[in-house]
Amino acid sequence: MSNNPFEIMDKVKNEKLNVILYGAGIQCRTFISLLRFKGVLDEQIILLDSNESKTGRKFEKIKILNSNKINKFDPSKSIVFITCCFPAQILASVKNDFNVYSIIPIYNQFKSFLPEIEINNGELKYERNIGDITREFILYDTEFNNLYSSIENKNLRLKSIDAVVTEGCSLKCKNCSNLMQYYEKPQMADYELLISSTDTILSNVDFVFEWRILGGEPFIFRNLDKYLLHLKKHSNFGNIIIYTNGTILPKQSLINAIKESNSIVDISNYGPHSRKLHELTKCLEENNIPFACKEPEWTDSGRVTPTQNLPQNQLEERFFNCCTKDVLTLLHGFLYRCPFSANLMNLSDHYLNESDRVFVNNFPGVVREKIKSLYREKAFLSACDNCNGRDYTVPLIPVAEQTREILKLPT
Ligand code: SF4
Ligand code: SF4
Repeated sequence: MSNNPFEIMDKVKNEKLNVILYGAGIQCRTFISLLRFKGVLDEQIILLDSNESKTGRKFEKIKILNSNKINKFDPSKSIVFITCCFPAQILASVKNDFNVYSIIPIYNQFKSFLPEIEINNGELKYERNIGDITREFILYDTEFNNLYSSIENKNLRLKSIDAVVTEGCSLKCKNCSNLMQYYEKPQMADYELLISSTDTILSNVDFVFEWRILGGEPFIFRNLDKYLLHLKKHSNFGNIIIYTNGTILPKQSLINAIKESNSIVDISNYGPHSRKLHELTKCLEENNIPFACKEPEWTDSGRVTPTQNLPQNQLEERFFNCCTKDVLTLLHGFLYRCPFSANLMNLSDHYLNESDRVFVNNFPGVVREKIKSLYREKAFLSACDNCNGRDYTVPLIPVAEQTREILKLPT
């Protein structure tokens, strides 16, 4: 079948093909809106997801089937779109006789219609804007490029790096998914180590689509302005995103550095806790700094559980379904596969598993291979056995509940 988005859509409509969407998540939601906008009928849309807990639930008014049902559809009368960020896993489970597509060509062709589509009229409980959707699709596209690169064993293009500049935060959320509530004496990043490890990574990978700066609260890191300006020396990354909780108004030198480095500020709006929100957004507007302001939903993913001793298949399933399993995290010179494992191992040697992290400055000549292996070859992390997981099935909890206590890790 053609790769031309117009021809694909024509064929779908004229031949009334089944449009099988594999992955009921955020990209899928936007894509369903686009399909409907282009006249594809809901009866044609088949929604699959490998997560059994989603089976039978409705997503955008369409019933989710378990992905093992794919084989009951006739490949000659169906077209499959991968609508989540795990193309390698999905491709491995779909038989060769199906035509399988990325959603990017159709998205790129028709995205200009998105503002006309009610992008926030569905079941998602937070507002998205075109900037957010664009970022989601760039990350999705990155995963496909990453897949092709890995098949060709050529490029090493990473979706994102979370660079943690401080363990400290101006809030103390009881269920912080980055585990700040467990730090007794939060440390700032060592500036020299932060710079050298950043340089090592960016000199040894081909591209990083988002260089994300976070903490804790990154605006309390006093060298943040210098760090942002240093990042400008590298050209092989896409956007710098700074995540903040809206409690701090940066000083002018930092505002200047944010602007000069073309960074985007991503603000979590925690209501009354985000006490500087109004001043911050006003300041960003006045300085023409792009920003997003979101009221996040939280799942119960910020607790360290006692070791569960799960069998390997359950650890693999937890990892497979986790939405942060590919959020590479740089913390004190070590690169980790996810923020939870990064902070857990950083908090206590009890949870240490050296094969789940890479001290990037320690491997001159082979660090690229080390990063590649961490990014592409893990089936699960030992930290998954102390984690609730992060997927659709994990219950929602109140957002940003504060505590005065330093929580204790389970013994
Ligand atoms: S979730 Fe709360 S404690 Fe954690 S980094 Fe964000 S504001 Fe700080
Ligand atoms: S430890 Fe495992 S399950 Fe928990 S967030 Fe990380 S990858 Fe996901």
